[in-house]
Amino acid sequence: MPHSHPAWLVRTLLALFLLALCGTSLLLWKKLEDAQADRIRDRVGFQARSLATELQTNLIDEVEGLRRMALLWNHRGRIPRDEWTLEVNFALDHFPGYQSIQWMGPDLHMRWVLPEQGNEAALNFRLTRNHPNFNLAMQAKAEGQAQLSNSVSLVQGGSGFVLYTPLFIANAQGERTFDGFLQGVFRVKPLMNQLLGSLDNRDFSVVLLESGQPIYQQEQPGSLAALSQRVPLELLNNRNFALQLAPTRKLVEALSSPLPQVVLGASLLTSLLLVAALALALENARRASALQAGNRRLNEEVKQRELAEQGLRDSRQRLQLVLDLTGSSQDGLFILDLANREILHMNRATHASLDYSAEDFRQLLKDDPEQLLPGFHSWLELVRQAQRDGDSSIFQREMRHADSSLQPAEISAQLVTLNGRDYLIGVSRDNRERLELEARLQRLSQQDGLTGLYNRRYFDRQLNGEWRRLRRLGAPLALLMLDVDHFKAYNDGFGHQAGDDALRKVSQALQNSLRREGDVACRYGGEEFAIILANTDETGARHVADRVMEEIAALAIEHPSSPTGRLTLSIGMAISDPAREDQPDSLVSRSDAALYRAKREGRNRTCLWEKDQG
Ligand code: GH3
Ligand code: MG
Ligand code: MG
Repeated sequence: MPHSHPAWLVRTLLALFLLALCGTSLLLWKKLEDAQADRIRDRVGFQARSLATELQTNLIDEVEGLRRMALLWNHRGRIPRDEWTLEVNFALDHFPGYQSIQWMGPDLHMRWVLPEQGNEAALNFRLTRNHPNFNLAMQAKAEGQAQLSNSVSLVQGGSGFVLYTPLFIANAQGERTFDGFLQGVFRVKPLMNQLLGSLDNRDFSVVLLESGQPIYQQEQPGSLAALSQRVPLELLNNRNFALQLAPTRKLVEALSSPLPQVVLGASLLTSLLLVAALALALENARRASALQAGNRRLNEEVKQRELAEQGLRDSRQRLQLVLDLTGSSQDGLFILDLANREILHMNRATHASLDYSAEDFRQLLKDDPEQLLPGFHSWLELVRQAQRDGDSSIFQREMRHADSSLQPAEISAQLVTLNGRDYLIGVSRDNRERLELEARLQRLSQQDGLTGLYNRRYFDRQLNGEWRRLRRLGAPLALLMLDVDHFKAYNDGFGHQAGDDALRKVSQALQNSLRREGDVACRYGGEEFAIILANTDETGARHVADRVMEEIAALAIEHPSSPTGRLTLSIGMAISDPAREDQPDSLVSRSDAALYRAKREGRNRTCLWEKDQG
């Protein structure tokens, strides 16, 4: 997987790259510009130096006449004035840069001045100590060397230079004596004009500086002061001058080439194009990798979806299998949404066991659950309660069959809350058979095997129960104890089997004589029976006892050993008020006592227990 950088990083790097390229372009441009400037500077410097050299040599050439004249003077002695005039006029004609040529005598008084016109003021001049050129003149005299002064104000007006050429003559003893100065006087401007005029100098502005101060300028239009250069200038032997040259724009342009700008433009453009191309390439690469990543994601999603669908298919199949299995279950299985009593699922047994179609069952449960499951709502409460208390979740209920009969159902109910909704998961089973079996077992455990009457155990329980019940009601309880008369003799006479038959008949007779529900006849033991009469007073008890006697008489069982010739029985009867007495036992013993009295008084009779009986 290609490593992808964040977009901002790529952009920053590109910008930096562009900056670097632009920087390099600028550097290149600067180098070329510098080289060009160097070339121009060299050219200006060269021009300035050659101009200075030419000026120097020109001036030397031009004042050559004066030097020749001085040599002549020194050699031959003072030149006569007319000859001097001839020489000077020649020199003046030859070099128009002169203001004047003059001779100053050894007393430093001006003697001869040519041309006279325009230089009248110089005629009476005398070089005194306080004149700026005095020292220079003295130096020239002392060294015997010509000296050019700095610019001074001339007596003729304006400023100019004076060239002091010392003159000497030999005396009679052959000694050289000072004979004044041959002077060349130059006005600055005409001198420079003259000197520069002969030179080709249209490409520069020229400034003549003396001790750093400009004293002459020759301006060319459009010269560039910034590019000016200064070179030292020695005029004759005066080194106080300098020449400053500034090239004209035209010259600079001629020397400049557009190369640096072209190079700058081209390389900037190239940089931009390069970076743009790079950016495009990177963007393309980014898109391609994004596309690839997208495809990969898509593929993964497709794969995942396929897996999920496979899983779904599997679980659907499993679910179907589970449903099929539950469908074949005998027990009803259903899931109920309690919010709307909508059945989410039920198997066939749920509705078929009650003979409903699935649709009818659904509808009935929704519309009238009490009809389908009597006490539905209170049962639901019970289920909730049991769930809260952790009690058994199995309930014995009744459900209404499609034919309206009630059918016992054992329902195991579980409440489940899922996503904020309450569901009831129920498993129901028709347990009629089991209930009946249980009931039968129950009955059997209470029944006397021979006669089918309740047995002694049931008697005890029933008597106690009724005692407690009637005590609450404040009602009387009657008990009849019955014993077959002379039964030993009957057995002896007819055999034990016949005895059993007789006991069965007697039992049936007892059963027949009971009318009220709740009246219970039990076999108390052997040939003794007991009848519990709830909520019955003496009169009621007598009625039952009479009926028993009638039923027994109606049986007319032969009993030859009995004085009556028929099977009879004796009855002891006791009534008690459970609210006033503590134990049911006393009732038993009282009726027993009454039975005993009946036997004693001759049998085949009913005796009521009375207090004085003890
Ligand atoms: P009476 O009560 O009148 O005083 O005389 P009786 O002969 O009935 O009294 P007794 O209690 O002496 O005899 C009871 C007899 O009842 C003894 C027994 O043979 C008979 N007997 C008790 N239980 C059964 C039974 O389950 N089957 C038969 N066949 N006889 C029984
Ligand atoms: Mg007996
Ligand atoms: Mg008896």
